[in-house]
Amino acid sequence: METMNLYVVSTPIGNLEDITLRAIRVLKEVDLILCEDTRTSRVLLNHYEIKTPTTSFHSYSTSAKADAIVRELKSGKQMALISDAGTPGISDPAYTLIQTALAEGINIIPIPGASAVLAALVASGLPMDKFLYLGFVPAKKGRATLFESIKDEQRTIVLYESPHRILKTLGQMKEILGDNRTIVVARELTKLHETFHRGTLAQIYADFTTHPPKGEMVILVGPKDFA
Ligand code: SAM
Repeated sequence: METMNLYVVSTPIGNLEDITLRAIRVLKEVDLILCEDTRTSRVLLNHYEIKTPTTSFHSYSTSAKADAIVRELKSGKQMALISDAGTPGISDPAYTLIQTALAEGINIIPIPGASAVLAALVASGLPMDKFLYLGFVPAKKGRATLFESIKDEQRTIVLYESPHRILKTLGQMKEILGDNRTIVVARELTKLHETFHRGTLAQIYADFTTHPPKGEMVILVGPKDFA
């Protein structure tokens, strides 16, 4: 029987150079690339002259689509899954497909690379021996409950947030976690305007009130007793 493989391939989070040689080789060798958005990934694929056919697989893809992909994998087609940026599955589509594929005996092969969580963490200056990744801050319900749950946390917490909600989020965090909690906001990682804002919740909130930040961002909250 032929080996049935689904490669989960990390792609850059901004800087096109942040992709591994193995990722490029795999993307060239597979029969089909499953993209979160084929038009977004076209920029990367063209840059590396990857001519492999693509099809879309995103968060709105039905379970029928996942089943159809798994049928093709079982017939021997080699496939790679990529998202718009970073590591598939990390606040990006992948999980349901990986579950379905594993249940059908398909090998899941990770091709590691960029992810905003780790890039932000390693440069934050906050403890990174242990950390808690909580994905996106909820847009509406559950925000206060989330912030309450991290109030006494002794590990560094990593969250994703959109620039439209950052002020609201920091304001609410300040109310619940207090003015003096250390935070870092990592913006535009690996890009031209990469910036790390380090300070207390009160300082960063005041700074962002006068200079609203733009671009993609990661919020890191220091452990409760971090000075
Ligand atoms: N799969 C991606 C990863 O591995 O990091 C995350 C995808 S998620 C849909 C997009 C969010 O990740 C953004 O809203 C932002 O919070 C964060 N992010 C992605 N790229 C970033 C970058 N270059 N700088 C800062 N944050 C980034």
